[in-house]
Amino acid sequence: MEDNNGKGKTRERIGVYVCHCGSNIAGVVDCPAVAEYARSLPDVVLARDYKYMCSDPGQTLIKDDIKEHGLTRVVVASCSPRMHEPTFRRACEQAGLNAYLFEMANIREHCSWVTDDKAKATEKAKALVSAAVRRVVWQQPLQTREVPVTPAAMVIGGGVAGIQAALEIADAGFKVYMVERDPSIGGHMAQLDKTFPTLDCSACILTPKMVSVSQHPNIELLAYSEVVDVQGYVGNFKVKVKKKARYVDEEKCRGCGICEEKCPGRVPSEFEEGLGKRKAIYRPFPQAVPNIPVLDRDNCLYFQRGRCRVCERFCDSNAIDYEQEDRFVDLDVGAIVLATGYDLFDASADMRYGYRRLDNVISALEFERMCNASGPTAGRILMANGKEPKSVAIIHCVGSRDTNYHQYCSRVCCMYSMKFAHLVKDRVGHDTKVFEFYTDLRAFGKGYEEFYNRVQEEGVTFVRGRPAEVTDVPETIDEVGKLIVQAENTLVSRQVRIPVDMVVLSGGLEPRSDTAEVARMFNISRSQDGFFLERHPKLDPVASMTDGVFVAGCCQGPKDIPDTVAQAAAAAVRAVGLMNKGKIQVEAATSMVQAELCSGCRVCNKLCPYSAITFDEEKKVSVINDAVCKGCGVVAAACPSDAIVSRHFTDAQILAEIEGVLV
Ligand code: FAD
Ligand code: SF4
Ligand code: SF4
Repeated sequence: MEDNNGKGKTRERIGVYVCHCGSNIAGVVDCPAVAEYARSLPDVVLARDYKYMCSDPGQTLIKDDIKEHGLTRVVVASCSPRMHEPTFRRACEQAGLNAYLFEMANIREHCSWVTDDKAKATEKAKALVSAAVRRVVWQQPLQTREVPVTPAAMVIGGGVAGIQAALEIADAGFKVYMVERDPSIGGHMAQLDKTFPTLDCSACILTPKMVSVSQHPNIELLAYSEVVDVQGYVGNFKVKVKKKARYVDEEKCRGCGICEEKCPGRVPSEFEEGLGKRKAIYRPFPQAVPNIPVLDRDNCLYFQRGRCRVCERFCDSNAIDYEQEDRFVDLDVGAIVLATGYDLFDASADMRYGYRRLDNVISALEFERMCNASGPTAGRILMANGKEPKSVAIIHCVGSRDTNYHQYCSRVCCMYSMKFAHLVKDRVGHDTKVFEFYTDLRAFGKGYEEFYNRVQEEGVTFVRGRPAEVTDVPETIDEVGKLIVQAENTLVSRQVRIPVDMVVLSGGLEPRSDTAEVARMFNISRSQDGFFLERHPKLDPVASMTDGVFVAGCCQGPKDIPDTVAQAAAAAVRAVGLMNKGKIQVEAATSMVQAELCSGCRVCNKLCPYSAITFDEEKKVSVINDAVCKGCGVVAAACPSDAIVSRHFTDAQILAEIEGVLV
């Protein structure tokens, strides 16, 4: 073989394929001209342009050419490698060419989608093809390896998303560890009264599922627990969970509740949104799962003042244990489903509406608890003076669709606001005046538009306009003692002042306050709105960018219960699919330490984001664990001795690519 590519390499036989992507690329880039140009590049033996390279005929073209023309390297110029690199690598492999002897040039996102200038787009496409051709010459065959998958999953978060995912995985025959931060599973759905649009009682449909979780032989529930560390990689995660001290022995407790009954400590209940009280030893709600109380040491008389121990005295089971400490459990799992849910927007951040400043301005979850028969008002909608309101304003989009807070639509507030309107009419009386202040009405789901029509027929008044303010300053005699909602009715371009007895603020759904921390721990990304980022918004909405970590429910973005349940089931299927395989291929493009160059400075040990590097004390060099390394390249760039090589991203490959762009 002759040396004609100027890099001291023997001649290769490269095939180049330029994809039109329908009109996505061909509408701007002159694809035949790019193919023509590719034919002039060193080592290129054939170049073709084709409408859809990712289609079956497109892939067949590559496979046939590899066989018929003895191609030793393949370049496809098309879309993002994130989309179709695996497709073309597979095609190469099927024709007997190592997958790492393939290179992709992105002439869609980098050329046709960023300019309308056809000449410039075509020139840039040629430059990228030239870079790929020069680079691929230096690529080397790499072998993927297989590692076994641990046949157990972890679900983090015990709201309806986590519950659904856990039950699906457990029913498929795999062990599930469910980690819930709160004393009970149930999440926000446990706080709701009725659910739109069918108005089924939330607890009635959720409680049986919660009980199934606690009784399922394949589910181990770790409530009042948190993940504190995650190591490993897809199929082989090592997770450390902190089981917070309950001060109640879970084995001995019978859940009789006598400790709770006798405890003298009373504090506002988080579950009741502060409208009701709980004891210092408590279950958040009567149907809590597990049915075991938690002792809140910050409010316990014994822990704070050294006197009391009433719960211990009354507990027949000797379950109270004041000496209990946090425990740490190490668990091995193959797949992880994140289902950590959402926080309700804190309406006090929007000062205009007077939340926590004006009596009878309440949040959406406070309203839910008020409506609930087992809630603090036994299901009665009451004002601060204990009377029922004669008029109620419900303000949509609080914290949502607002550039000051969240730009996105929270998707459920329109519907739950209309549910509230129905509940006011139902509970207080049909003559109660209800005003819905909306920005746009979004009733997109099955049966939602019908529910909107029903609420209109019930006599609810819809005012299109985001209120500017809620005050208690009267301007007329009718407004005395009332809350006044000021808004522009944008349908008739008229300012309105509507006096009401009660204002309900329909807050948006926002990412949990610790989302950034959780994302860091699980090494996943967040989207601009702060929620966990899915791998692909359309084609892979349940996977994260980290293999083996899936997302479900509102932690990925606001959604209603049906969509939450559907996404959770989908995430479960993905986790089961992974575990069913029994083994998986791990990245071949990993980094390696050239021991003879390593100075033992250990800089890389701290920098590796996957903890893939250990230090060999005997040889005084760093060593990379191939199974854990993701080939991210961080340490190759950082090593002061240039001792680390990133396979598939070697200096020679990158320099050839740069040279290719510049010719
Ligand atoms: P969540 O319910 O938030 O559950 C997440 C769980 O994860 C919680 O238990 C939490 O404690 C736990 N968790 C969080 N972080 C961690 C961590 N780091 N480690 C361990 N555990 C963690 N939808 C409808 O379809 N119909 C309705 O009528 C309806 N009404 C609504 C009314 C209101 C006022 C609101 C705000 C929403 C309403 N929704 C309704 C939407 C509904 O609440 C959500 O679709 C649903 O609760 C989402 O469930 P989830 O499991 O994703 O999240
Ligand atoms: Fe009953 Fe004792 Fe458990 Fe309290 S700790 S619920 S008293 S068994
Ligand atoms: Fe309540 Fe603490 Fe007294 Fe127990 S010791 S009864 S938890 S105040």
